[in-house]
Amino acid sequence: MYLIKTPRVIQKLFPNFHWRVGQRQEQPTLYLTFDDGPIPHLTPWILEQLEQYRAKATFFCVGNNVRRYPDVLQQTLDAGHVVGNHTTHHLDGWKTDNVPYFHDVRHCAVQLKTTLFRPPYGRLKPSQAQFLQRHYQIVMWDVLSGDFDPELTPEDCYDNVVDNAGPGSIVVLHDSLKAEENVREILPRILEHYTSLGYAFASLTPEVLAGTAGVTKTRLKTA
Ligand SMILES: [Zn+2]
Repeated sequence: MYLIKTPRVIQKLFPNFHWRVGQRQEQPTLYLTFDDGPIPHLTPWILEQLEQYRAKATFFCVGNNVRRYPDVLQQTLDAGHVVGNHTTHHLDGWKTDNVPYFHDVRHCAVQLKTTLFRPPYGRLKPSQAQFLQRHYQIVMWDVLSGDFDPELTPEDCYDNVVDNAGPGSIVVLHDSLKAEENVREILPRILEHYTSLGYAFASLTPEVLAGTAGVTKTRLKTA
């Protein structure tokens, strides 16, 4: 069970996490994020699609994949995208003791030289959250495409995004074999749709994230 749109009440419960980005600039901006890569089978294709729209995105990488496919990581960085930490072994925080979890997170942070962190499955115990938010910018999301769900058609996933994502939304897609069919279908359409609405697509740099924690308190406009 998961929620496509993260309810404001949950966002407010964890005000130090980043759920969306406050929009100060005139052009509405969408923050696409891709979890679980890099993989040679799909990442280069995603990069090509983004390139066609001059879109920048954020890739939350699994350390083990980074180790196996350093060239694909380099290609992502060379294209001007931002990479973030998604643990070394895609660990579930709820099922992992704190010390091994923190080691796994730290290993990936060092490997990628990043302070951006997204917990796999969005799952952290309160004690893990408390510790990690002192050291990392914890990036959650505003909208899940559901692309990882075999029960959903590409049409469902596309609707999940366009019905819910608005200015400043952080949207989750997956750079994984499990999500491949949906992603290949919906990414070009999402890029086209939001471009036609005048949006820009930007990466979640530490600067963009600075000051966005607690942004839900300011009653931002939603789509
Ligand atoms: Zn993941």
